[in-house]
Amino acid sequence: MSNVNGKVVIITGASSGIGEATARMLAHRGARVVLGARRTDRLNAIITDIRAAGGTAEYQVLDVTQQGQLQEIVQFTQNKFGRVDVLINNAGVMPLSALDQLKVEEWDRMIDVNIKGVLYGIAAVLPVMKAQKSGQIINISSIGGHAVSPTAAVYCATKFAVGAISEGLRQEVGGDIRVTVISPGVTESELADSISDETARIGMKEFRRICIPAEAIARSIVFAIEQPDDVDVSEIIVRPTASPY
Ligand code: NDP
Repeated sequence: MSNVNGKVVIITGASSGIGEATARMLAHRGARVVLGARRTDRLNAIITDIRAAGGTAEYQVLDVTQQGQLQEIVQFTQNKFGRVDVLINNAGVMPLSALDQLKVEEWDRMIDVNIKGVLYGIAAVLPVMKAQKSGQIINISSIGGHAVSPTAAVYCATKFAVGAISEGLRQEVGGDIRVTVISPGVTESELADSISDETARIGMKEFRRICIPAEAIARSIVFAIEQPDDVDVSEIIVRPTASPY
C-alpha cells in the first residue's frame, strides 16, 4: 500500500500551477486533499474534477498573509478528517523587478506571501503534528533559493529564507515530523503573470521558454511523501534538463 493513500494533505496556493497539479496527483493516489487559495471558483472546479474521478477533496478560501486563515484551514481539515498528515506551503508570488525601480509594495507582497505565509502555515500546523507525533511539512522554495540573478533579489531573498526556515525546522522537530524543501526551476504556471516591470517581464518570457510541466514538480512532492516515515527527503531541486541555472 502506498504511503500516500489515505493521507490528509493541505496544499496552499492550489488554484493553479504546481499546487493544482500536486492536488490532482495526490488525490489520484488516494490522498485526501484540502485545497487553499483566494480564487475559490478555481478551487471549486478542481475539487469537482477530483471528486468526479473518485478522489476525496475539499477546499477553503485562504489568503496566506492572514495568519487566522491558516489556522482556519487546519481546523477545518481536523474537523473533516480528524488529522493533518502533510502541509504543503506552496503559495507564492514573483513580481520581479530591479531594486532601483523601488517597487516597495511588491517587495512587501513577496515577503508577506513567500515568507510570512510559510511561517503562518508552520505555526498553524505544528501543534497538531506535535500532538499526533507525526506529520510532514513541505515548503516550496525555488532555484532562486540557491542563486541570485538581476531583477530577482527580493524574490530570491524570500526563497533563501524558505530554505533557512525549513532547515531550522527540520533540526528542531526532526524526531517525529518530516521537513522537506523542494526547489523548482522554471515550471509552467501562472507565476510570471504578476510581473509588472516591463524589462523583467520580457527577460522572464525568454527564460521560461524551457519550462517543464507542473506535474514534474508534483511527482517530486509525491516522492517525498511516499517514503517510509523514518526517511526524510530533506531537499530536492527539480529543473529543466536544458536549464543552465
Ligand atoms: P502560480 O501563480 O500558478 O500559483 C501560485 C499559487 O499561489 C496560486 O494558486 C495562487 O492562488 C496562490 N497565491 C498567491 N498569493 C496567495 C495568497 N496571498 N494566499 C493564498 N494563495 C496565494 O505559480 P506556481 O505554481 O509556479 O507557484 C507555486 C510555487 O512554486 C510558488 O511558491 C513559487 O514561488 C514556486 N516556484 C515556481 C517556479 C515556476 O517556474 N513556476 C519556479 C520556482 C519556484 P490565488 O491567486 O487563487 O490565491
